[in-house]
Amino acid sequence: MIEHLYIHIPFCHRICPYCAFYKHQHGGTDFTAFVNAVVTEARMQAERVPMALKTVYFGGGTPTALSETHLERLLAGLDEVLDLSHLEEFGMEANPMTVTPSKAAMMKRQGLSRISLGVQAWDEETLKTLGRDHSPAHAKETFLTLREAGFDSLNIDLMFSVPGQPMTAWRHTLETALELNPEHISAYNLNYEEDTAFFEKLAKGEYRENPERDTEYFYHALDTLETGGFQHYEISNYAKPGHQSAHNAAYWFGKDYIGLGPSAFSTQGLTRWRNLPDTERYIHAIKEGILPKQDAELLTEGQHHIERVALELRTARGVSIERLGAVPERTLQTLTEESLVVIEDGFVKLTRQGKPLADSVAGELLV
Ligand code: SF4
Repeated sequence: MIEHLYIHIPFCHRICPYCAFYKHQHGGTDFTAFVNAVVTEARMQAERVPMALKTVYFGGGTPTALSETHLERLLAGLDEVLDLSHLEEFGMEANPMTVTPSKAAMMKRQGLSRISLGVQAWDEETLKTLGRDHSPAHAKETFLTLREAGFDSLNIDLMFSVPGQPMTAWRHTLETALELNPEHISAYNLNYEEDTAFFEKLAKGEYRENPERDTEYFYHALDTLETGGFQHYEISNYAKPGHQSAHNAAYWFGKDYIGLGPSAFSTQGLTRWRNLPDTERYIHAIKEGILPKQDAELLTEGQHHIERVALELRTARGVSIERLGAVPERTLQTLTEESLVVIEDGFVKLTRQGKPLADSVAGELLV
């Protein structure tokens, strides 16, 4: 039974140089055809597999880059072909430059319950480095627009360890976010992803990774946000009580999900596939009545185990001893003695000291 649905909207007004998601500028896309294709794909998937949806999330790209008319048609169309009446979370990513009061009101009217606003930074310099198309003032204004539209579960996405971002800027960004009193904050350490302009600069030596700075900025976020009343419940995620993301938790804890839209991933049991990462070909396939799947793979039990341990360890709940299976007693003892993990109620959890080292601790647990 599928309980979680992801919908990928690949359009962006401007391409950020660090971004590795499948996305493109509007180009010559026929938006009506695109919206119809996503709704048709939803219907085809609902006919193929039983669904009892608990969470739906629109990501991208920039879902709010669709015009109000197209976005409304998409939301209304999905409501016709899917049963959305038992949703616990109905979320959408938004970009500050693409939300008007009228569009925000329509989003609320159509039942969305949680909006994630891509702010990244609240200083001009860092925004410029990140190639973002909004100003600090615009991001604030958009947050308030969403609040005025009635959204009572708002997330702000932030990014740290950006080249040239001083600690004063990161501090200012966190403080500004707190002043706005959101229910959730995601604070991501910048990753240099392959096939991005940032990765090229890293390869040329123009940018440098700096693990010490990563740790310092991570702890600054952790301390500031915990003091501000947020619970740190996953390495990059902080929530006020009752506002943890149910959709993201589904990924972290290995639930099945279906992805709609170009390039979207789906996982059912050990089978994972990706939709065609090409908007025109995606629309064409759907028009022909074909699900636009490619790259289907059957995960081995070993691959599945590695993924589960790595993702669950990043959460506050931790990874169960049962899941870990055959980890030598000695490994757990060493990690505990080094104060990197604690074992509580049958779960191995990262300590404050272990949190910035989540990947290497997972590596030890997977030896
Ligand atoms: S707006 Fe988001 S999806 Fe689009 S390029 Fe920037 S980071 Fe990537």
